[in-house]
Amino acid sequence: MIGRAIGMPAKAKILRIARRIGLLAALAIATVSTAAFASQQPILAFAARVAGDDARTRVVIDFEQKPDFVIHYVDGPERIIVDLSASAFGFPAGDLAPRGLFKDIRYGTMGSDSARMVFTVNRPVKLVMAEVQKNEERGFRLVLDAEMTTKEQFATILKSQDWNTSAAVLPQDVGPVVEDGVFTVAVDAGHGGIDAGASGATTKTPEKTVTLDFARLLAERLNKVDGVKAFLTREEDTFLSLSQRVTIARQKHADLFISLHADTLAQKDIRGATIYTLSDKASDRMAENLAARENLSDQLAGFSIDSGPPEVADILLDLTRRETQAFSVALADNVVKSFEGQVGLINNPHRQANFQVLRAPDIPSVLLEMGFLSNPEDEKLLLDEGWRAKVAALVADAVDRYRRRSVANGG
Ligand SMILES: [Zn+2]
Repeated sequence: MIGRAIGMPAKAKILRIARRIGLLAALAIATVSTAAFASQQPILAFAARVAGDDARTRVVIDFEQKPDFVIHYVDGPERIIVDLSASAFGFPAGDLAPRGLFKDIRYGTMGSDSARMVFTVNRPVKLVMAEVQKNEERGFRLVLDAEMTTKEQFATILKSQDWNTSAAVLPQDVGPVVEDGVFTVAVDAGHGGIDAGASGATTKTPEKTVTLDFARLLAERLNKVDGVKAFLTREEDTFLSLSQRVTIARQKHADLFISLHADTLAQKDIRGATIYTLSDKASDRMAENLAARENLSDQLAGFSIDSGPPEVADILLDLTRRETQAFSVALADNVVKSFEGQVGLINNPHRQANFQVLRAPDIPSVLLEMGFLSNPEDEKLLLDEGWRAKVAALVADAVDRYRRRSVANGG
């Protein structure tokens, strides 16, 4: 069918194809009324791009003039529909190739006075931002920020939207809230699902099982502390990308993020616990190698790591990062203090490296290597219930000491 269009002037051809796609989209959702926009000449959408990953994805479309838009959510399959004032889509289709949370992106005209974009999603999502901003150079840009959400929240959005007005854009959930009186801790069991992590030297027990068993114990122990509420980023043997782990922590307003691991090393005699905090520059070669290996997790499961979540260069964000960093270091020091004389530690037990999973700009985060599955003695301890209970109690003590100090300092 497209073959027949060859020979037409390029712009007319693009419009024709776009209209056909638009009609298909309209057929698929025929029961849905389109938003009414004032009749006008189509605005040229001259550029578009998609960035982000399977936890947060941003779409940006550049227009010659300021477009009006209305957002709706649709079910079966789950989609976000953006109705626009009359638009002509003049950018190459490849620029909006689906990625991240979106598995299909379509767009086209809807008659003479409106256009529509349809984003089919991989999993329930919500828009945390949808606005038109002025470009420095040319025209305006429509920015849509989507974030992963739960089935329940998606259903709530569906039910609460009014088809005569734009659906609500839910503000992004933001970080530490000690003020609510509850100190929330995200306990992150490393690996899971297709990503088994390391495996035990003797028993071959996968790291993903060791971390989940300990995570459950630690969350239980933390929940016994007055004023502390812990939750697990994953409760089963399921795969979560690194960005999803961080996003879940942010959405649940975590005040602290603890990622649990038990990796292997080529030097099998090395044993003991290590506490890592984030740094662009690794403290040593071992830390650097471990972080590089952990960061491969997304690739293992077939996720691309060529671009992280959309981020804004921002002085405030930099300040937040620095403050968060100081808190992370304070927590790491507390854990080391708790462990000293009680739990085996490696030399220089507080180390730094560039772990993707520690990158939340506003949640103090540490990664605890409880021990090494490559070392038979460590492996025995990691599988020992008594040892795990003792370590969980010591980590909970460290968290509680840290919390008391942060509350005393006003947050
Ligand atoms: Zn690991």
